[in-house]
Amino acid sequence: MFFRLSKGFKINAPFMEDNTPIHNVDLEEGVLGKANKNGTILVSDKITDPEERESVIEHEKVHIDQIKRGDLDYDEDFVYWKGKKYSREEMQEGNKNLPWESEAYSKTDPFKKY
Ligand SMILES: [Zn+2]
Repeated sequence: MFFRLSKGFKINAPFMEDNTPIHNVDLEEGVLGKANKNGTILVSDKITDPEERESVIEHEKVHIDQIKRGDLDYDEDFVYWKGKKYSREEMQEGNKNLPWESEAYSKTDPFKKY
C-alpha cells in the first residue's frame, strides 16, 4: 500500500509505531525514558515490565511529535515550548503541569503502577 500524506495531516498513534528507533540504555536514576532531538527514543534498561516499557515509549513518542512539529526544543540549560523559555534548573522535569508533559500525559494511558 502506498499513500501520500497531505500537509497538515495528523498521523494517528498506531502509524507512529514504525520508524522511531528505540534504544535500551542505562539512564540516570529515576529517568525512565528520553526523547532525543534526532528522533530516537531512549528507554531505561532497568525497566523489566514490557507493559511499563510500552507506556514509557508512548509517552516519549508524544515528545518526539512535539519536537518534530516545532513546539518543543531544548538544550542543556533550557526547554523551549512554543517560543517560551523554561529554565531546567528551576523546573521539576517530568512534572505533569509542564505544558509539554501535560499533553504527553493526556494523550497516553499512564502505566497503572504510577
Ligand atoms: Zn515527558
